[in-house]
Amino acid sequence: MSKLPLPRILQSQGFGTRKWCQELIADGEVAIGGETVADHRAAFETDGLEFTVYGEPWRYREHIYIALNKPADYECSRKPSHHPGVLTLLPEQFRLRDVQPVGRLDHDTTGLLLMSDDGAFIHAQSSPKRHVPKLYVATTHDPVTPELIAQLLAGVKLHDEPAPLAAVTCRMIDTHRIEIVLEQGKYHQVKRMLAAAGNHCTALRRTQIGGLKLDLLDLAEGEWCYLDEAQLALLT
Ligand code: URA
Repeated sequence: MSKLPLPRILQSQGFGTRKWCQELIADGEVAIGGETVADHRAAFETDGLEFTVYGEPWRYREHIYIALNKPADYECSRKPSHHPGVLTLLPEQFRLRDVQPVGRLDHDTTGLLLMSDDGAFIHAQSSPKRHVPKLYVATTHDPVTPELIAQLLAGVKLHDEPAPLAAVTCRMIDTHRIEIVLEQGKYHQVKRMLAAAGNHCTALRRTQIGGLKLDLLDLAEGEWCYLDEAQLALLT
């Protein structure tokens, strides 16, 4: 439990510098429990604190853990070059809190992307030692064949990779789509595995990470939601 002055709380939540947050309070833009807080020296218990800024409701969060349904044509990179960055899909406060994607999806890959400002969480989730299964639906240029599935399951050799990489599971959905589960997160891995197996990926969507299923989050493309503890536990 910790009591902090309101400007510090607002600053920690990404509302700007301490001075800017003091001004927000002085301007009467911050309310707690429906009451405008006019005194910027007022201190509050942060745990479970709910407040509004410009009338918009917020809850104090020590860290942010969210899932985004990534649309195509957004880059995961911190300094996007050809397309807008995924951060532009989130509230500005998140950028000031240094929320970052957990791992990367290609600009043309859609689907489940985790984002957080918790460095330890990002590090742990991205660790190659973790082997968290990730499920993708890949659309192929050429028809899916039993040989293609067999090759992806047996392992294919990629340039720059010392050992062949294999899918954990792989099945045909229809003539031009497969569902493939990978435990590694190598650069362009699905696309390169399909190419190495003699086909070509024309669209890619990540639908699940660990036990966390995008479908159950009920997010339209471009939408995001906070993840609760039970949902975070599904990522292990
Ligand atoms: N594999 C790819 O080829 N691209 C992605 O974005 C994710 C996995």
